[in-house]
Amino acid sequence: MINLENISFDHCIKCTVCTVYCPVARVTHLYPGPKQSGPDTERLRIKNPTLLDKSLKYCTNCKRCEIACPSDVKIADIIQSAKWKYTTKKFNLRDFLLSRTDLMGSMNTLMSPLVNFATSLPITKMFLDSILKIPGQREFPAYGLGQFISWLKRREDEQRAFTRKVLYYHGCYVNYNNHQLGKDLVKVLNAMDIGVLCTDEKCCGVPLIASGDVVKATKNAVYNLDSLGSFLKNEDMPIVATSSSCTLAITHEYKHLLELDNSHVADRFEFISMFLLKEFAKGNIPKMKPLNITVAYHAPCHLERMGIVAYTISLLKKIPGVDVKLLNAECCGISGTYGFKKENYEISQKIVKPLLDKVKAINPDEIVTDCETCKWQIDMNTKYDTLHPITLIARAMGD
Ligand code: SF4
Ligand code: SF4
Repeated sequence: MINLENISFDHCIKCTVCTVYCPVARVTHLYPGPKQSGPDTERLRIKNPTLLDKSLKYCTNCKRCEIACPSDVKIADIIQSAKWKYTTKKFNLRDFLLSRTDLMGSMNTLMSPLVNFATSLPITKMFLDSILKIPGQREFPAYGLGQFISWLKRREDEQRAFTRKVLYYHGCYVNYNNHQLGKDLVKVLNAMDIGVLCTDEKCCGVPLIASGDVVKATKNAVYNLDSLGSFLKNEDMPIVATSSSCTLAITHEYKHLLELDNSHVADRFEFISMFLLKEFAKGNIPKMKPLNITVAYHAPCHLERMGIVAYTISLLKKIPGVDVKLLNAECCGISGTYGFKKENYEISQKIVKPLLDKVKAINPDEIVTDCETCKWQIDMNTKYDTLHPITLIARAMGD
């Protein structure tokens, strides 16, 4: 039976603009592109699921095709759901480990110095490459010691003392890897007289969606919607997030891919650059000193999909002494866990090449992006330690 609420493929006018914008189709003949893998084949797949094209696995879910489509066809969503609906998934240890960010994060943050040392050893990389098929060239983000949520919960009384507050969806990266980004956010918002609170949360589900584990992705989504929703029942505050992919998952994919009612949470969710820019426009700006640097900005695909990139660029331009150059390089090619899979590594590296050329041409003092996995890809391929816009603001504020 055809679900008549989900037939956006029928709006395709066959212009092929999406294929021109697809970073994967541009670098490999193994993937025919969004038009063919999405709307063209979907109308056949719903009649005959055996028509599943195995090349669907090459789609990174970057959603650039959806940005380009003039007919609002939900191309990437169609491709992701096709992977789930029409593929018999076999257990894969690598995909399990890459997608269980809460499990890995909870364990690894207990002994992070040891884990960080072990994952940097050539012998570990050889093992990961040959047994798990995680490319040996790939660098893993370092784990922090302990969890960010414990640090913030210890400060709950002091944060509650602010008249205005936000609920922070920190995501796995801040919780397990980059505590400093969360602390920078607290510093910036506190300087603007806004307290930062948190509640229990699970991974937003992006890596689970990518590995095709729709059951676990849905469980996490239901947990997050319940937890954030219950917290906000008696509290009048927005939810903010610093991760572009977490924001897209909660506000878009929970509804369109996992078919959950996310309205009670999505309506109050704001990506941090959007929230801050509105505050800045009202004159609520933290004191900053000129940095006198050139910054190259990489816009993450998922932020582009939500139409929020202009907010981050405007925000960066408000930092004194920052000359903002746009990399305009489209996708970085890592797409979450995609670039951590050996079969995708070469494609991922081919996609990032134009971005690296632009970095060389600009030769900035710093690179900035709002997405943690874009940061990993850029850091691995350059001499830079890519910063989040919030960290740059915190730096301009000084000690
Ligand atoms: S989501 Fe990205 S990789 Fe997948 S078809 Fe669209 S543009 Fe191509
Ligand atoms: S851009 Fe949209 S309308 Fe054009 S071919 Fe792709 S899916 Fe169809």
